[in-house]
Amino acid sequence: MGTLMDLRRWMERFAELVAADADRLTRLDAAIGDGDHGANLNRGLRAAVEALGPDLPPGKVLMTAGRALVSKTGGASGPLYGGALRRAGKALGDTADVDAPALGTALQAALDAVRELGKAVEGDKTMVDALAPAVEAYGAAAGDGVATAAQAALEAAEKGAEATVPMQARKGRASYLGPRSVGHLDPGAASTVLLFRALAEVAG
Ligand code: ADP
Ligand code: MG
Ligand code: MG
Repeated sequence: MGTLMDLRRWMERFAELVAADADRLTRLDAAIGDGDHGANLNRGLRAAVEALGPDLPPGKVLMTAGRALVSKTGGASGPLYGGALRRAGKALGDTADVDAPALGTALQAALDAVRELGKAVEGDKTMVDALAPAVEAYGAAAGDGVATAAQAALEAAEKGAEATVPMQARKGRASYLGPRSVGHLDPGAASTVLLFRALAEVAG
């Protein structure tokens, strides 16, 4: 059996989607932050993809991408995305074939890392509002295979991101705005949707 989920392709597709949407992410961040989220993540993901050699085992793919993101992204999102991917890679260990349950374990580890590092809970208007429901939806559908679970995760991430619009930010730069952060989509939640769009495309 070959690798069921090609994690390198996932990271490459995530990088492509962020590159294509970098201006939108930056505009979202300009409204409630400092207007660099698209540029930050685009720079970090380019470095991540460059760091990926051709024959890395799956766990090493995520750990390598995570390390590059931590060192090259800058901003709050770098350590969060980078820490998430590193932890996900570690959770895979030396798993050779990433099947639906293995990917679920990795995604759960990523969420745990973001929660631990950023201390945000759902409702704080951060990437956690997209990531947490996505990971939960993935887990609930993992028995139906990677493609179905990834699609469920994408839909949950989209809903979760949309739900950040009426929230008042309690973490990150947007929290400095207090009530003026209400009425805007959180940029990190928007980029998390792209992470799951990439997953659904590559898994489908
Ligand atoms: P910075 O705010 O340092 O410029 P970015 O603009 O790259 O960093 O990323 C901002 C995004 O990071 C926010 O939209 C939010 O989703 C996410 N974020 C910020 N702080 C936290 C946190 N403590 N926990 C989870 N996510 C956070
Ligand atoms: Mg910013
Ligand atoms: Mg910044």
